[in-house]
Amino acid sequence: MTKLAILFLVVLLAQAHAQFEDPAPKRIPPATLAKYYTDTIIQSESIGIKQCTDRVFKERQKTLANGGPSLGVIPTVGLGMAMLLFLFVGLFAAGIAQAFQMVRKHVYHDADNLDTAFDAGGKVSIGLTATTIVSQWTWSATLLQSSTVASKYGISGPYWYAGGAAIQIILFAILSIMLKTRAPGAKTFLQVIKARFGKRTHLTFCCFAFFTNLIVMMSLTIAGTAVLNSLVKDLSPELAAMLLAVVIGGYTLIGGLGATFYVSYFNTAMIFVLIIMLIVEVFYNPGNNPENPFGNSEAVFDFISCWKAPDGNKNDSYLTFFSSGGLVFGIVNIVGNFGTVFCDQAYWQSSVAAKPLQGVWGFILGGLTWFAIPFSLATTMGMAYLGMSSAQGAPLLTDSDVAKGLAAPLVAQKLLGTTGEYAILFLILMAVMSTGSAEVIAVASILIYDVYQAYIQPFRPGLKSGQCIICAKYIRFPGLEDSELCQCPSATGCEGCATDTLKRSKAKGLVKPHYECPIHKDYKEYQEQLLGYKNWCIVLCTFLSIPLCLFCWAVDLNLAWTYYFTGILIASSVVPIALSILWARATALGMMSGVVGGCICGISSWLFYASKYEGGLGASVFVKNTGEEFPMLLGNMMSISCGALFAFVVSILTRKSMTSEEVEAEWEKTRDIDNPLSPWVQVYKGELQLEEGDRFHDRPPLDIVIRKFRAAKITAYIAGLFFTALFICIWPGSMLSVGIFDLTQFNIWTIVSRGWAFIAATFIVIVPFYQEHQLNKDLKIAEMGAIPQSNGNGHAKSPIGNSQKHVVIVRQLRTVANRLITSVKGSTNNSYDL
Ligand SMILES: [Zn+2]
Ligand SMILES: [Zn+2]
Repeated sequence: MTKLAILFLVVLLAQAHAQFEDPAPKRIPPATLAKYYTDTIIQSESIGIKQCTDRVFKERQKTLANGGPSLGVIPTVGLGMAMLLFLFVGLFAAGIAQAFQMVRKHVYHDADNLDTAFDAGGKVSIGLTATTIVSQWTWSATLLQSSTVASKYGISGPYWYAGGAAIQIILFAILSIMLKTRAPGAKTFLQVIKARFGKRTHLTFCCFAFFTNLIVMMSLTIAGTAVLNSLVKDLSPELAAMLLAVVIGGYTLIGGLGATFYVSYFNTAMIFVLIIMLIVEVFYNPGNNPENPFGNSEAVFDFISCWKAPDGNKNDSYLTFFSSGGLVFGIVNIVGNFGTVFCDQAYWQSSVAAKPLQGVWGFILGGLTWFAIPFSLATTMGMAYLGMSSAQGAPLLTDSDVAKGLAAPLVAQKLLGTTGEYAILFLILMAVMSTGSAEVIAVASILIYDVYQAYIQPFRPGLKSGQCIICAKYIRFPGLEDSELCQCPSATGCEGCATDTLKRSKAKGLVKPHYECPIHKDYKEYQEQLLGYKNWCIVLCTFLSIPLCLFCWAVDLNLAWTYYFTGILIASSVVPIALSILWARATALGMMSGVVGGCICGISSWLFYASKYEGGLGASVFVKNTGEEFPMLLGNMMSISCGALFAFVVSILTRKSMTSEEVEAEWEKTRDIDNPLSPWVQVYKGELQLEEGDRFHDRPPLDIVIRKFRAAKITAYIAGLFFTALFICIWPGSMLSVGIFDLTQFNIWTIVSRGWAFIAATFIVIVPFYQEHQLNKDLKIAEMGAIPQSNGNGHAKSPIGNSQKHVVIVRQLRTVANRLITSVKGSTNNSYDL
């Protein structure tokens, strides 16, 4: 806490020295205004010309009488209040983290005890997986960029944002179940790449994973800085960048790792509360707010239909799917998001943490729930922005402010006043904090486990694939006697480890006695050291995010540019990553040529196209020309398609078709990925109904695992293909038959968007809670060994007396903590997982 307070003071002092200038009052030039302004209703040609309704003219006159239209977001939140908000968010996260640490310490007495007794990454339920995914996938960009495209392209913008980013999450269910089948012990997708394709390919993919984390971090901080600057008075970008880094760092460092999972539940719930608040304000206006010109969807429709869309929409209407800008954005969005989901370790970690069968449903339901955030939020905010612009007869923001993502904060400020401002600030901070710390942890994990442990200082240098890391004997080898193979027991069943655990749990004070188990002590100490390095790595990465923020601000990157560029840089790795777990025939050369070749094709075609615009690639117009829609579209398409093509073609050329034995041998490589301290067979033995062997690597043959996971696999494929077809083809295709919406069609559209938000909110708030509660109850009953007796109301009667109640409470706490730690281990990639 002291650290946070000191940082807070430093930041305040730095602020005192900063200089500010008064922003010059801006006006929209008449030529620009003419592109938007209209007195007649925009509708299908068949209906003919009609004047706007009286409602519209009345509002416009009112604006003129009140001193003319307003422009821009007015920063009204005082710096002091903003600091308090920061402090509050920090304290809130720290409080949760502290509570978590207390449970660890006082209920378990020793953290190490947990690692051995409850090491069971892979037991998170459907509801929690969905919550974690929704929270991770909700970037600050999700809240801002979706509203931006809504205000530029109309109704098709939010749809493309939501549909084009939900399918990746749903399709990820397929990768998730295949990972559980073919590499159940893997904790990162990079481990699979390393096991199958070797060092060079592994390092290349590590680079792309870094790029992904870097670019996600950039778009997070750009969006965060833009919103902070627009709403908080006298806040310089430098200070905003530093504050964001402090929030991310503080949260990650103060035991925040452990609280990630709790915070994501709160975070998701908060987001939905805010969305519903805004929907209610815009469509129902319960407080009869005089600033709110709407109040029902008919009013929203009247205003929007009297406002022109200059960006290539059919008949200049915002209420149509015939929008070239919307479509280009849709395609780029789909491509880029494939990259940010498949290539970001954070989603693989969620998949690893979930139970195999529940994980599939977690991803599907998580994707459908998340769909509501951009779809409902941006439909509401974007429509409100356009309607309010129409109501005052002039755009509320300049084009560059729209590109920065300020439409959503502006609407919140105008409609909800101070409440709206704080709500947006809080939302953005939560999004930056949870996603930012996940990215920092992901980078640190890759650095330590995939680079340091693998190449710089491995536990056993020169270890060949198929050898046991503890005794260096082969796990299985044709022609070798059983006695010459590794006989290492798993740490759970090991006597030496049990003694160690007992001794360490009794020791008081910070320094724990050394491990003494003759088999596992060296490996355990090595892993503990790695964990220490990883924490330092997290500190370092957090500090590096400050110069990153400042760099983005200095070169004037905007959110839209970064968002469009993402796919060009990383989308070439999407298909190779999917193939690495789906296709046995893929080869190292195929993977490399796909990911590198695709990236080169994407970047060069993008730059080539951009150089055709006026000014070429000169420094003064670089961001503008390279940010044009069509170069970005071409670059994205080239990147993902060349990546896929090269990976396929080169793999087929470099490896002949395989026999079923060869295929099996290929997957044995990935099944070998395991942690002797918590082997995967133990984690899945309940779900797979397996017999446990003496040695940690005794495992069932592949076809048994395949058979057990068959239902989940079919579910994942059906849901993935169905929703992809629905969101990409069927839904938008059927919208094309509508043309320009009339009032009835607009009503149906907003009812769908509102309804989706209400259902998703109900699901995400209630289901995780209910499932955890249910699990607790089952565990309690099982632990007491009592058969539940019904007391007539359907409630189980507790067979214990008052004197034993505290025992039950402690047990209850333990089960909660148990599950917490389990999920944390999954999401933070703790040392014993590897
Ligand atoms: Zn061994
Ligand atoms: Zn041992």
